[in-house]
Amino acid sequence: MSEENFWRPIVGIDLGTTNSAISYIRNGKPEIIPSAKGELLLPSVVLIDPLGNIVVGKDAKDALVAMPDRSIAAVKRKMGSLDNITIAGESFSPQEISALILKELKQQADQMYGEGEKEAVITVPAYFTDEQRRATKEAGELAGFVVERIINEPTAAALSFGLENLQGDRTFLVYDLGGGTFDVSVVEMFSGVLEVKASTGDRMLGGEDFDWRLVDWFAEKMISQYGVDPREDIRGKAALKEEAERVKIVLSSETSVSVMLPLVTVKDNRPIGLTAEVSREQFISLIEDLIVQTLERVTGVLQEAGVTANAIDEVLLVGGSTRIPYVREAIRSLLGKEPRSDVNPDEAVALGAAVQAGLKSGLLSESGLIATDVAPFSMGIAVLKESVSVRARPGGFAPVITRNTTIPVTRSQTFYTSAPGQTAVSIEIYQGEHEWVKHNHFLGEFMLDGIPENWENYEGIKVTFRYNLNGILEVAAESVSSGKQMSVTVQDALNRDSREVFEESARRLQKLWEAVPDETDADEDEDLDDWDLPPGELDEDDGEWDSEEDDLTPTLAHEDGRILAQRGHNALAVLKDTEQKKLSQALLALDEALQGEDVEALERAMEATTDLLIELEL
Ligand code: AMP
Repeated sequence: MSEENFWRPIVGIDLGTTNSAISYIRNGKPEIIPSAKGELLLPSVVLIDPLGNIVVGKDAKDALVAMPDRSIAAVKRKMGSLDNITIAGESFSPQEISALILKELKQQADQMYGEGEKEAVITVPAYFTDEQRRATKEAGELAGFVVERIINEPTAAALSFGLENLQGDRTFLVYDLGGGTFDVSVVEMFSGVLEVKASTGDRMLGGEDFDWRLVDWFAEKMISQYGVDPREDIRGKAALKEEAERVKIVLSSETSVSVMLPLVTVKDNRPIGLTAEVSREQFISLIEDLIVQTLERVTGVLQEAGVTANAIDEVLLVGGSTRIPYVREAIRSLLGKEPRSDVNPDEAVALGAAVQAGLKSGLLSESGLIATDVAPFSMGIAVLKESVSVRARPGGFAPVITRNTTIPVTRSQTFYTSAPGQTAVSIEIYQGEHEWVKHNHFLGEFMLDGIPENWENYEGIKVTFRYNLNGILEVAAESVSSGKQMSVTVQDALNRDSREVFEESARRLQKLWEAVPDETDADEDEDLDDWDLPPGELDEDDGEWDSEEDDLTPTLAHEDGRILAQRGHNALAVLKDTEQKKLSQALLALDEALQGEDVEALERAMEATTDLLIELEL
C-alpha cells in the first residue's frame, strides 16, 4: 500500500473497571460505537464458559455468581501488577484479560469500519503509574490496536465537555469516581486551549469498595445470626457482591431497599440465606469515610492548582459512582456549586477519547481545540539524604520531574557518586511525593557502570527523565566528566513488557480466539444458552461433559441448572414433609431436564424450582 493511501481508522476507548466503551468521530462529534445488540457500554467482565469459549460483557457479568471460578471482573485494579489471574484453571496476566475486553470492542469497530488495523486512544486514570500505563498499552496491542495515545480519564472528560463549550474562558473541576479508581483534576479552558492545571487521585478507590463495604456488613449480620462467614464460600461471596451492587444502585433512587436472598451459603447441609433492610443512611454511614477521602483530594487539587473553590466555574461529575446522591451533595456543599447535570457520567470519558483521536487524525482540527496535560505525580531517584539525627542515609527521594508539570517534559539533574573511586552506581526510580522513597512507589532500577575511576573527587552523573504524552517515563544517564551515555527505559529496568513475553501472550490469546465456535454454525441471534459444544470438546476442569460419550449438548443453562439442583437437594433436609414433597417433585423434573438437550424445558424446570425455593423462603 502506498504511503499516501495509507489510512487507518482511529477510535477512542474507555477501558473501565466496570464498563468499557469505544467511540469515534462522526460529523465532527464524538459518538459511542454500539455493539451488535445496540448496547453502548460493555461490562468489563470476562468468562471462559464450560465449552472453553471466551465470553465478554453482559453475558459474562450474568455468569459471575454461577461461575465465579470461570469469570473475572474489575481486572483494571490489577493492571500493572505481576499478579496472575486464574480463570477456568488457566492463568492470565491482567493485560491479557484486558486484551480480551479490548478485542471485543475492536470487533464493534470492525463492524463499522471493516476488519483491519485500527489506531486507538485509550484512557487511564490520571493517577495510574508508569507500569499501569504500559500494561494498558500492551493490552491494546495484544487486542490488535495500534495504540496511538494513552490519555488521562478526567482530561478526556474535559475534552468532550470542552468541544461542546468552546466559547468562553472557564475553569472547571472534573471529579471522576468510577468502579475502581478516583481522579480529580482542575482544568482551565482559555481561547480553545484546554489546560490541566493539577490532577490527583487514588487508584484504589471506587464503587467496588462501596460494594465490598456492603458485603462486609451483610457478612457480619450472617455471622452474628448463623455463626457462618459467607465470604469463605466463593459462590456465597459472589452472590453477596452482586446483591451489594444492586442495593447500592437502588439506593441512588430509593431511600431504602430490601434484601431477600434465600440461599447464600450452606452450613451443615442447611441453606443459609440473608434477609435485611438497608436504608440510604445506613449505606452512607458505611462509605462516608471513603467519600471524605475524595473530598480531601478535591481540596488538595485546588491548592495545587492555585485556585479557590470560588474560582471553579463548572463542576463535571464523571464515573458511575457519581450517581450516588450523597456524592453529588458532598461536592455541592464543599464547592458551593451545583455540579452540571448534562454530562453523561458513563460516556464522557469514552467520548473524550474520541475527541483526542479526532484531534490526532485531523478530523477535529477545525475546532481549534488544543489540550495539554500534566504529570500527576513527582518522579525521581533514591539518593543519600541528610537527616536531622544522623548523617546522610540512603533512601532519600530526589524528584527530577515534580508533580503537575505540563507534559511532555524532559528534565535533567546532576547527582554525585557517594564514595571516592566509585565506578558503578545503581539508580532506583520512584514516583510519589514523600521525601523518603520507602513511602513512594518503586518504578524500576538500573545499573550505571563505567563511571571514570576518580580518587580525588566525586563524579557527576547527569540523570535525564523524559515523561511523554502517554505518561510513560524514559530515563537516561550520562557521566558528566566522560560524556559517556547510557540510555535506559524504566520498562527495561523492570524487565517487564519484553518482546518474548508479549509474543507469547499474543500467541496464547490468538489460540483462545480461534477456539470460538464458527459463527456460521451459530444461530443468528446467538445467545449463550444456544451455544453448542464442538464435537468431542471437553471442559478441562472436570471432563464431565463429553459430547462424544453421551451426545449431550450442555449449555450455560445446564451449568446454572446443576447449581440450582444442588441447592435444592441441600435444602430438602430442612423442610417439613409436605414442603419436602413439593420440592422433591420440582427437583425430579429439573434433574430430568438436565439429562436432556431441550433448553426451553430446562429453563421451565429451573423457573419452577426457583419459584418454589422463594415460596419456601429458602
Ligand atoms: P464506571 O467505572 O465509571 O463505569 O463506574 C462503575 C461504577 O459505578 C460501579 O461501581 C457501579 O456499581 C457504579 N454505579 C453505576 N450506576 C450507579 C448508580 N446508579 N448508583 C451508584 N453507583 C452506580
